Amino acid sequence: MSLYARANATVAATGTAVKNATASAAKTTTTALTKAQKLQRTAHRIDGAIYKWYVIAGVVFALSAVYVLGLLRALVIRRRVAAKRKAGATPTYGTTKAGGLTTAPRALKALYDNAAYVRVLPLYLYQRTTLAEAFWTIAYIGVCLGFGFWGSIFRNLPLDIANPMGLISMSQIPLVVGLASRNNVLSYLTGIGYEKLNFLHRTAARVMVLSVALHALTWAHRGLPTDNNIHSDVFKWGVSAGSCLLVVFLTSFAIVRRVAYEAFLFIHIVFVLMFLVAVYHHYEPYNYWVWPGLFLWGLDRFVGFARLVLVNKLWFRSNSTIELVDTDVLRVTVNRPLLRWSPGQHAFLTMPQVAGLRYEQHPFTIANVPDGTGNAVFLLRAQNGFTRRLVNKLADDVSTSINTYVEGPYGISHDMNHYDSVLLVAGGTGVTFALSHLLSIIKAGREGKTAVSHVRLVWNVRDASHARWIAPLLNDAIAAGAGGVSVSIDFYITRSEASGEPEEKGHTADRDPAPDATDSPATTSPSGSSTGVDQEEEKPSASDKLMLAAGLNAAAATVAHFHNGRSHLEHILREDVDASAVDAAGVHVAVCGPTSLALDTRRAVCKVNSSVAVLRGQNPVTFYSETFGW
Ligand SMILES: Cc1cc2nc3c(=O)[nH]c(=O)nc-3n(C[C@H](O)[C@H](O)[C@H](O)COP(=O)(O)OP(=O)(O)OC[C@H]3O[C@@H](n4cnc5c(N)ncnc54)[C@H](O)[C@@H]3O)c2cc1C
Repeated sequence: MSLYARANATVAATGTAVKNATASAAKTTTTALTKAQKLQRTAHRIDGAIYKWYVIAGVVFALSAVYVLGLLRALVIRRRVAAKRKAGATPTYGTTKAGGLTTAPRALKALYDNAAYVRVLPLYLYQRTTLAEAFWTIAYIGVCLGFGFWGSIFRNLPLDIANPMGLISMSQIPLVVGLASRNNVLSYLTGIGYEKLNFLHRTAARVMVLSVALHALTWAHRGLPTDNNIHSDVFKWGVSAGSCLLVVFLTSFAIVRRVAYEAFLFIHIVFVLMFLVAVYHHYEPYNYWVWPGLFLWGLDRFVGFARLVLVNKLWFRSNSTIELVDTDVLRVTVNRPLLRWSPGQHAFLTMPQVAGLRYEQHPFTIANVPDGTGNAVFLLRAQNGFTRRLVNKLADDVSTSINTYVEGPYGISHDMNHYDSVLLVAGGTGVTFALSHLLSIIKAGREGKTAVSHVRLVWNVRDASHARWIAPLLNDAIAAGAGGVSVSIDFYITRSEASGEPEEKGHTADRDPAPDATDSPATTSPSGSSTGVDQEEEKPSASDKLMLAAGLNAAAATVAHFHNGRSHLEHILREDVDASAVDAAGVHVAVCGPTSLALDTRRAVCKVNSSVAVLRGQNPVTFYSETFGW
């Protein structure tokens, strides 16, 4: 029976007595409630908890519709432009006619995108979130508490927030559990990866904690009824559930996740399961909210385990090749012909011989694209736990093989093949995300399946030799050809922290953006090129040596450029926008790197993609940011 049907059944069960009670309730103020009044008020609360889900379903439906329309639009543009280019047509350059029906909506969109997604709120307002994330957080809390209070007010009966708050907290269970799942239906419907939806998991969990606190405090203030006193099962299970939730809440703070992730995860899983059991027994009439939570959790684990067994063919030994490519960076190659993934997706690696907790799993972005060999390549930067143990294990043996299990792929791939020009900005191992997209565009170019005419990778690294991390993949891809796509690979050698590691969501407070003044324009390419767009020029021998040291072959050397200092992103982006064609979906910028780099990129996009410039006919710029965390 559906939840709504249950609510209706509850109302129906009250029968005629309720109708009579309603009439008399109008006269009641603070006197004891009749059974019929109580039942009717309960049905009213249940309605509130269910209406909240109608709102959620409506929003999910709207987001899904936007997602599907976006996919269709991208498909149409990609096919149209790719067919034109295949037929030999050159891209159309110049600007769109200003102020017309085309540029006005685009200018409005640029204004909206910059305000909602590209700019981040100042750090003193909690965290560096976008306005869109802040909006969804506040809207969700508003809807939940709104329906909670609506459920507390019934006709002119006395206000009762104790039980409505209990009900609101229980009705969060499916969403809290569902949003934490890797195999997440909402992600597939809306196109927003589960790791990006994680902020809503935390929001729903906070609503749950807040409503449980209000539920408990109100009962404590009012005094327990005699049939539910401190010796009753309701009380004991309630206190158990509340205690478990408190432990989960206190061990979920960012600092705990950063310092002891495995402990956080273990406590999270064990105490959430204990919470679900306790809350199930606390108030059985509402335990239909617990079942969906248990179901979603079980389904997620079942699907994850099934993928693990199938992808790794667990009936064999599953090896990997691990190379120490730098003092702190590992390249892991696993051969799993059954693993199918799209650019930007990640997978969880388990290496029981290295793990602290035997089956601990860690997510890493797959740096290459499927090429028929079944090889998936990962780049791992050593932190302090599992990854450090792996580096230590390899310290004496620079290339070894360790039993590895892969679960994935996860995350929703962000396709870029309908844009005319793509600028991929990376710092440190954030290159895994950028490289997979670069290789995917090159492959699509080769196959005549992309609208992209120019793709540029800007990678900030501390040392030119870091190019070796990705050189084998680049060499093969460039040598195989990119069709009509012009490729530029710009290495910016910073020899500083600025090239550091990708930001982790929620961990952004500890690094400040470097001042703009530290950026140096891209003028020191050994090839003499100012920006790295010219592929045809001959390299002087110093450059040849540099390419050799970086492990790049002759083909890759024709598109690679080395620069000293940090990339000047506004300058680079402006150049790409000016050189872009107008027959595809404009220019796209994607970044994966440390906080300072992500903030620089955001600033560059806001400056170049001003609504005034777009109104005047400039190609619009869209933006995407990837983080290594949730
Ligand atoms: C979607 C995604 C893609 C990623 N891709 C890459 C990549 O391509 N290359 C790369 O070097 N790193 C990547 N990371 C980061 C990588 O997962 C962590 O650096 C790694 O798990 C750290 O393990 P550790 O035990 O050595 O870390 P610790 O020293 O214990 O912790 C270091 C940091 O990693 C986080 N962390 C630890 N374990 C996990 C875990 N199981 N899940 C999520 N976060 C964890 C901690 O919160 C902490 O902030 C990615 C992370 C995510 C979420």
